[in-house]
Amino acid sequence: MSDPILAIVVPCYNEEEVLPETIGRLRALREELIEERLISPKSALLFVDDGSRDSTWKLIYKASLRYPEVKGLKLARNAGHQNALLAGLFAAKAHADCLISIDADLQDDLSAIREFVQKFRQGYDIVYGVRRRRDTDTWFKRHTAQGFYRLMKMFGVDLVYNHADYRLMSRRAVDALEQFGEVNLFLRGIVPLLGFRSASVYYDRKERLAGQTKYPLKKMIAFALDGVTSFSITPIRFISLIGFVSFVVSLMFGAYFLFLKWAGHTQTGWTSLITSIWLLGGLQLIALGLIGEYIGKIYKETKRRPRYIVDLDLWNWPLPQRLSPA
Ligand code: UDP
Ligand code: MG
Repeated sequence: MSDPILAIVVPCYNEEEVLPETIGRLRALREELIEERLISPKSALLFVDDGSRDSTWKLIYKASLRYPEVKGLKLARNAGHQNALLAGLFAAKAHADCLISIDADLQDDLSAIREFVQKFRQGYDIVYGVRRRRDTDTWFKRHTAQGFYRLMKMFGVDLVYNHADYRLMSRRAVDALEQFGEVNLFLRGIVPLLGFRSASVYYDRKERLAGQTKYPLKKMIAFALDGVTSFSITPIRFISLIGFVSFVVSLMFGAYFLFLKWAGHTQTGWTSLITSIWLLGGLQLIALGLIGEYIGKIYKETKRRPRYIVDLDLWNWPLPQRLSPA
């Protein structure tokens, strides 16, 4: 087997603080792997600028002029981590035999990349990077993340535990991924569905090299909710079940109260009345909200809007002079 061509795809959103370091380290790693005859010298690094507002694109563009192995893709606006990743994978797949996705902040140990490629050479189509420990993450991040995996499992979604979006995919796996037309693509849930032969590589997660997390609590909640509702209708079933149970219980209560009345006991009735009104009102609101969540999803999917819009693709289209950043 000749050495496979590797493409490393890095989504970047306002990452000017870490990007120079990231580019440097990835280039060095690429050189090493080429020297070890693990990957072909045609291997490249693709940096996707996800509509950053700082100088991220300028840095990518300049690096691409200086180093031929550095490629750049610029999205027209911020499309979110998952979509930026997809944009990068789809732009790079024609040039590569295998593709690795990694975050720009280098939290994920680069040395796992060597093992990823070795697994690929052993015939695996998908290699998951799995965090062995995450004690460098904050207490809050660790526990919310754990809660998220539990919740997903409870709702019957098959996720690789403690695996984020650090993984290798063969070109045909990315081709298969492209066939999933959902606008709301939750990669960690979809990739196991592809069904190709897969392996895991364990690594330690480090602290962010520099800069702030781009996943504040609001985005984390949105991400978790998207993950659950695009993969499972268990929450809706659960709500129906609660509705059914409370219906049966209130029937029984009704019968009981009627019996008390018939037996001549006076009932003030106010307490039970007010509690049941509030209880049922609450349940109904939850149920409505949940159904709304799914209807919103249907609404989004039926619009078939593009997941991202490419502004500049330095790899696949030569850049017109007038568009180069000053
Ligand atoms: N990212 C992106 N678009 C966004 C948000 C994040 O491309 O809208 C990128 C970001 O630059 C980073 C990766 O996604 O490379 C993961 O983000 P981050 O490290 O902030 O998330 P965390 O590790 O805190 O979960
Ligand atoms: Mg990070």
